[in-house]
Amino acid sequence: MLFEILRGDLAARIGRISTRHGTVETPAYVPVIHPVKQTIPAHEIREIGFDLVITNAYITMKSYGQEAVHRGIHDIIKYDGAIMTDSGGYQVLEYGKVDVTPPDMAAFERGIRTDFAIPLDRPTGLGMSYKQAESYVKHTLRVSRETLGRHGGDDSNQIWVGPIQGSEHPKLVTRSTKSLTRMGYKMLALGSPVEFMESYEYRLLAEMIITAKRHIPHSVPLHLFGAGHTLTIPLAVALGCDTFDSASYILYARQNRYISEDGTRRLDELEYFPCCCPTCSKYTPAEMLQADLEERTRQLALHNLYAIKLEVDKTKQSIHEGRLWEYLLKKARTHPKLYEAITSIITTDDVRDAFHTGTAQFKQKAVFLYSHEDQYRPEVAAYHRTARRFRAKGKSIVVVTPETKSKPAYLSREYREAYRHDYDGDGDDNVDNSSIQFCQYNPVLGIIPIEISDLYPAAHHVTAVRPYNPELHVEFAETWDRFFAKNNFEEVRYYKNDEFIGHFVERLDGIRKRYLPDK
Ligand SMILES: [Zn+2]
Repeated sequence: MLFEILRGDLAARIGRISTRHGTVETPAYVPVIHPVKQTIPAHEIREIGFDLVITNAYITMKSYGQEAVHRGIHDIIKYDGAIMTDSGGYQVLEYGKVDVTPPDMAAFERGIRTDFAIPLDRPTGLGMSYKQAESYVKHTLRVSRETLGRHGGDDSNQIWVGPIQGSEHPKLVTRSTKSLTRMGYKMLALGSPVEFMESYEYRLLAEMIITAKRHIPHSVPLHLFGAGHTLTIPLAVALGCDTFDSASYILYARQNRYISEDGTRRLDELEYFPCCCPTCSKYTPAEMLQADLEERTRQLALHNLYAIKLEVDKTKQSIHEGRLWEYLLKKARTHPKLYEAITSIITTDDVRDAFHTGTAQFKQKAVFLYSHEDQYRPEVAAYHRTARRFRAKGKSIVVVTPETKSKPAYLSREYREAYRHDYDGDGDDNVDNSSIQFCQYNPVLGIIPIEISDLYPAAHHVTAVRPYNPELHVEFAETWDRFFAKNNFEEVRYYKNDEFIGHFVERLDGIRKRYLPDK
């Protein structure tokens, strides 16, 4: 099997891709290697822990010709891990066209024995008209079909990667993805988000990934072209990208830019290095500024590789722990534009569906709930769905109180005391609570009928106690409305000083409202 999935969270997965040059664990950052003028030798990049790199077959062809076919790409760039080759599509995007035909390029990629080969595509850039993008998509699909027809069936175990085009036109992305999948591509690649990132178009990027992912079988890994920023990686991974390449480590280094977990800095802005990689342990920013250009670029590029590796590993550990949601929202706080994008992306139906399907229904660990944004996290949304279906059979009174500290709620002291309390209010000693539906609530998690208060994550969460603005809790409102529509309560009881629930009680018509005796 080409791709083995070990674990998932949101739409992300930890997986393994088998190649002729070893196993690549995903999600994986794929550093771009220049076949001629590479600053950091590829074998050093392997030592840092990158098992897959990407290099350019077109430049290799232009610089080495048939020699590359004799020696093989692994010898050309001196790298013994897995290699992916881009076929010149990027040059098409930059310069309009390349002087080689797709069949010749495909034969060359086969000849140099690359592990992952990409047909010579014609990328659709950001801002391209629909008509033009459509003609590029058609061209790329025709080339992809021919290439796979000629080289896909061979026994060399070379993995052909189908290039999805269409950019910001969802119809074209859909068409492109569906066609490539039908053709039998075992791995797909999505282009060309560099431009999206440069213009902070995270939302467009997310939509493009989601559109493509909807039509990609679960077992097919997805590569993202041009994503190598610590702010973009967790988002792209959360949306289901498995590998992503970029030359960011060296491009930034050449501009004296230092990658950190919350963006990039200019070297001269740094008084301290917020990192302890070998480079940052050895130098101070002042010392590095004094180094000659070549050494400084080299050291910065090395640091940048470590910084990206750290970001990928943190993201992977979050998937492992089932805390990618928490990590994504933490990450969102690093830049207002990212925050804006992420908090808006997570409310869309498409993203919620994608996150839902990849997230385990029950987890080992409690979920952390901080604010109304967490109402969209998949585990919480799943609980809302269950509460919306809940039937309180034969109950005419509903009691709604804030959540208790000890969980599950039915084992809490407060519940046991409440249950013993004479709720029928007739003043005699005859306590009969059989007509009462007890519920607790959590502003994020919604209404918690006592009978399902042990269902994950009702008893497995830690919520920040703070004033919650009921207006922002649209999921709560929806669950509340459906809960009351499904069950024919005659009376609702709640605490007078509970403003949050008071807001929702006001929405109810045709029901008696009574305060509970003060606690
Ligand atoms: Zn460092």
